[in-house]
Amino acid sequence: MFKRFMTFQKKNNGISPYIWAVLCILPFYFIFQSSSTIEIIIGILLTILFFVFYRFAFISKGGWPVYLWTFILIAISITSTSLFSYVYFAFFLAYFIGNITKRVTFFILYFVHLISTSISINFSIINNGSLFLAQLPFVIVIWISVILLPFSIHNRKEKDHLEEKLEDANKRLAELSKLEERQRIARDLHDTLGQKLSLIGLKSDLARKLIHQNPEKARNELKDVQQTARTALNEVRKMVSSMRGIRINDELPLVKQILDAAQIMFIGQEKITLTGVSPLTENILSMCMKEAVTNIVKHSGAKTCTISIKQTWKDIVLTIHDDGVFKIRNQKEGKGHGLIGMRERLEFVNGDLELMTNDGTTLIIRVPIDVKQTDREELE
Ligand code: ATP
Ligand code: MG
Repeated sequence: MFKRFMTFQKKNNGISPYIWAVLCILPFYFIFQSSSTIEIIIGILLTILFFVFYRFAFISKGGWPVYLWTFILIAISITSTSLFSYVYFAFFLAYFIGNITKRVTFFILYFVHLISTSISINFSIINNGSLFLAQLPFVIVIWISVILLPFSIHNRKEKDHLEEKLEDANKRLAELSKLEERQRIARDLHDTLGQKLSLIGLKSDLARKLIHQNPEKARNELKDVQQTARTALNEVRKMVSSMRGIRINDELPLVKQILDAAQIMFIGQEKITLTGVSPLTENILSMCMKEAVTNIVKHSGAKTCTISIKQTWKDIVLTIHDDGVFKIRNQKEGKGHGLIGMRERLEFVNGDLELMTNDGTTLIIRVPIDVKQTDREELE
C-alpha cells in the first residue's frame, strides 16, 4: 500500500520521492516523543488512517466523497498538530487540494484547510508546546505551503489542461486540412483525369466499331483519343507541380517575364536564398510576390519595379516597390481580392503586410521565422 502510494506521488508531480518518504516517516518520530503508551497507539493509528484516507481521497472521482475524505483528513491533521505537534500532514493536504480540478470544490476545501491549519497552529503556539516552538521555522514553511502550494499546483494543472486542448485542436486542424486537401485532389482527379479517361474509353470503343465500316472516321476518332491522352498527361503534370508548391526562385523568372512584357524595368536579385523557411511560407511569399507584380502591371503605370528580400534570424522581409501612382479603387469596381487574399494568406504564417503609397507604391511583407540556434548564428 505504501509502495503504491509512493509511485502514485511520483507519477503526479515528480517531487523527489525521498521528500515524501521522510514526510511519511516523520510522524512516528513525533509520536514517540509522547509520554503515554495510549498516546503512542493513538498516534500510530491516526497516521495509518491518514494515509489510508489520503489514498481514498485521491481515487475518489469527485462529488461528496472528496469532501468526506478531505474533512476526515483535516480532522486527523488538526488532531496530530495539537496532540503531537506534528503539522506536516497539512503539506500532504495542500498537495491533494491543489490536485482538485473542480474550481468550487478546490476553493471550499482550500479555505477550510487554510483556516483550520492556521487555527491549530496558533492554538499550539499559545499552548506553548516546547516541541512545537522548537520547529517553528518549519511550521512557518508548512503554513506558507498551505497558502501557496494548492494554487501553484492548480494553476499548473489548468495550464497543462489548456495546452492539451490546444494540442488536440491543432491535431484536429491538421487532420481537417489534410482531408480538405485530399478532397481537392479527388475533385481535380475527377474533373480532369476522370472525364478524359472516360472520353478515351468511349472514343476507342467507337473506333473499334467503325474500323471496318468506316476506317477514315475510325482514324479520326483515334486521333482524338491520342489528343485527349496528351491533354490528360499535361493536366496531371500541372496538378503534380501545383501540389509541390511554388518555390520563390521558380517564381522570380516568371515575375521578370511579366514585367518585361509590360515594359517595366526589374531591379533586384537574380537568385534568392532562404534558409530554414518552411515550404508553406515560401509558397505564400511567392504568391504575394506574384500578386503584387500583377497589381503593378495592372494599375500602377510604373517604369521600374524593385523587389528585395532580406532574411534575418527572426523574420523575412519582402519589399516590392514601384514608381507609379497608387490608384484608389472607385466604388463601382467593388472590392479587389488581391490585397485581401495576401493578408489572409499571411495570417496563416503570422505574417503581415504594410502598404505605403506616398512615393509610388511600396508593399512590405514580413513573415516571422522559427530558426534553430545554429541557423541563427549562421544568419547573424
Ligand atoms: P484582383 O486582384 O482581385 O484581380 P485588384 O487588383 O483590383 O483585383 P487588389 O489587388 O486588392 O485588387 O488591389 C486593390 C486596388 O489597389 C486596385 O484596384 C488598385 O486600385 C490599387 N492598387 C494595388 N496595387 C497597386 C499598385 N501597385 N499601383 C497602383 N494601384 C494599386
Ligand atoms: Mg490585384
